[in-house]
Amino acid sequence: MNTIFPKLKNDFQNDEVITTNIYKLIDKYSVNNHLSKDEFLFILDNITEKETRYLYKKAYDLKYEFYQNRVYLRALIEISNYCKMGCKYCGINNTVESIERYRLSVDEIIEYCALGYSLGYRTFVIQGGEDSYYTDDVLSLLLHRLKSEMPDTRITLSLGERSKKSYQILKDAGADRYLLRHETASKKLYNYLHPSYMSFENRRECLHNLKEIGYQVGAGFMVGTPSQTNKDLVDDLFFLKELNPHMVGIGPYLCHEDTELKGNMSGTLTESLIMVAMTRLLLPKVLLPATTALGSLHKIGREKALKVGANVMMPNISPTENRELYEIYQNKICTTDTSELCRNCVEARIVGVGHVIDLGVGDHIDLERVTNNARK
Ligand code: SAH
Repeated sequence: MNTIFPKLKNDFQNDEVITTNIYKLIDKYSVNNHLSKDEFLFILDNITEKETRYLYKKAYDLKYEFYQNRVYLRALIEISNYCKMGCKYCGINNTVESIERYRLSVDEIIEYCALGYSLGYRTFVIQGGEDSYYTDDVLSLLLHRLKSEMPDTRITLSLGERSKKSYQILKDAGADRYLLRHETASKKLYNYLHPSYMSFENRRECLHNLKEIGYQVGAGFMVGTPSQTNKDLVDDLFFLKELNPHMVGIGPYLCHEDTELKGNMSGTLTESLIMVAMTRLLLPKVLLPATTALGSLHKIGREKALKVGANVMMPNISPTENRELYEIYQNKICTTDTSELCRNCVEARIVGVGHVIDLGVGDHIDLERVTNNARK
């Protein structure tokens, strides 16, 4: 070791070793679509700006191989901000007293989906807090009506944890997909972010149940939650590889000042983009949204995500008057827009970065092949 300029020497050595290794690791990752925990951690701990550009390019190229520059649109309707759960990061959790609560009736949901249908959308994501009003009977009625009035569509539910029996009933009633982010694959972090009555194991079991029943399943996680480490993010990658979901939602944690986690830093754009790109390399054919949280963090956050491997966008079709109330995080975009405005805005953004919108139902590419073969 050089005793005169030890720091300089070390820096030089580190730079050289790390730079070479990270490019090589990214190459290896692009080919194998997996790495060891140590290798993942090495990338996350040491990646530099120059190397992120290489990672992003690899992720974009892989997306292009399967999906080209097509971006699928999912129309998102936020049906209720009542929630019996207490996720500490979420602005509509049951302890937040400062918001006015609302829920949409079956008729209202149909009305807004029909408007979405007339704008060209063929996938609807029905999302809400865990609101006991939406029993299996109420949701079955909604699903039957949606599927009979708009048969050439896919319906995605994102209504939190329910029993396996309930998931089965909803599938039988017409639901095609279910989004349930695992939030974090680290039990310690999960327990820190949730009250003791919520269970890490149950959320994972729900995901396995949904897969078993035959839903197209979406998992996902937030980047930059308080006390999250790179090791936790590596756990997320490992969990996703094992679960092999059809979709993965990744967004920055955005601090909500009316929650228990107030005063914390939010996740950053770069960290989130790195995890989007890492996920594309992990699951090459996955449907990967450029999330609203990314667009809320940075004015072109979603466009940037499209450039690093994302291939889905989720324009809002909720009634304008309710949008501000579905405040899972603050400074959410599109809360004063109408569905028509969101439709135009999203298309302009997609086209602006050299992509094209795909208004098909946008199934996972493996399922598309199954359906196409069956039709032949
Ligand atoms: N009740 C449903 C929908 C939850 S809201 C469910 O449990 O799945 C959808 C997602 O928003 C959550 O899964 C979470 O990952 C994300 N979210 C919630 N609060 C957030 C915050 N403060 N910042 C960023 N994302 C948040």
